[in-house]
Amino acid sequence: MKAELEDLGSRSAKRSLITTENADQAWLKMDGRKMLNLASNNYIGLAGDQRLKQAMIEAIHHYGVGATASRLVVGNHPLYEEAEKKLIHWKKAEAGLIINSGYSANAGIISALMGRDSVIYSDKLNHASIVDGVILSRAHNRRYRHNDLNHLEALLKKEERNKRKLIVTDTVFSMDGDMANLAGLVELKEKYNALLMVDEAHASGVMGENGCGCAEQEGLQNKVDIQVGTFSKALGSFGAYVIGDKWLIDYLTNRMRGLIYTTALPPAVVGSIVRAIEIVQTDKEKRCLLQELTNRFRVKLEALGFNLCGSQSQIVPILVGENERTIQFARRLQTNGVAAIPIRPPTVPEGEARIRFTITAAHTHQDVDWAVEKIAHVGKELGVIL
Ligand SMILES: *Cc1c(COP(=O)(O)O)cnc(C)c1O
Repeated sequence: MKAELEDLGSRSAKRSLITTENADQAWLKMDGRKMLNLASNNYIGLAGDQRLKQAMIEAIHHYGVGATASRLVVGNHPLYEEAEKKLIHWKKAEAGLIINSGYSANAGIISALMGRDSVIYSDKLNHASIVDGVILSRAHNRRYRHNDLNHLEALLKKEERNKRKLIVTDTVFSMDGDMANLAGLVELKEKYNALLMVDEAHASGVMGENGCGCAEQEGLQNKVDIQVGTFSKALGSFGAYVIGDKWLIDYLTNRMRGLIYTTALPPAVVGSIVRAIEIVQTDKEKRCLLQELTNRFRVKLEALGFNLCGSQSQIVPILVGENERTIQFARRLQTNGVAAIPIRPPTVPEGEARIRFTITAAHTHQDVDWAVEKIAHVGKELGVIL
């Protein structure tokens, strides 16, 4: 293990934790230095919102600090019912369930629904929690090339119609910022009699008229069998959800180990979820502003000649390539006051290290322009652009 750590170090792949303050704001403090925060998933700025803070404080006064047990024992405090009612109404779903985190949702749902005789079709760039769910399920794992529906169809064709099959995808991909072709996936899942599960972690609260995500934006909410999303990104708090048919939620309540064998979320967290769902439905200006800022950022970087990995969202990566150069890029940006985070393998494929920028509605047009100026300067210094 020590040799492994040394090896990571020699390949510029070793990571460490850096204390960061004010990550809920447009400007943060990293290692005590003030920097523009282009690295958080706080997309519409709710993590520092006064209304969410108040909701948490009230929940603590009413229900205490800890949930004391699993939801199936005595941890199912009244805020859960309120939050799940709000969730179902927001998503126009038949049923829904709050789960402790996006990671445990994906790992738990996939392994509960699929077994040794099932086949899972998973996009190669899906989030690690989906990959782990597939492994836990012991199902046959068919990874299809990123967003390549021809490849997916070729793989689907090989299985019998009556096998239990699941197609699973992120809707907004977390390291590329591009999107899945949901209409195409719905067509294939119907044609080949498979279930379709989508992970809206980066789209919930951001995409769609009511911020429900990409499925809403594409008008496909009732065509997707299993929709997962989180409250930890745009919704500013913590935790995750799954929505679907009543039988599905019943099944998960009985079979999902990541729900059954873990303590329920603290009342304060669920209280803030209730408030966040209310806010996200009414605060449409925040979503518009986010779109505007993101477009501005992307257009300017593209004009400078950066490779943005096909980004179509508030996640805007700049492809650099080698680890060492990516770290240099990040370091120089940090020196220039931009909190840039290098993303390296195994999070992204070998040779595709990048800086992953995220825009939030807490930023201003001036912030964006200022960042582009710094990024252009460092990009030229390092020869990433001409
Ligand atoms: C962040 C993320 C998760 C994990 O969610 P947490 O609530 O942070 O555990 C799952 N899926 C995707 C696509 C994500 O980006």
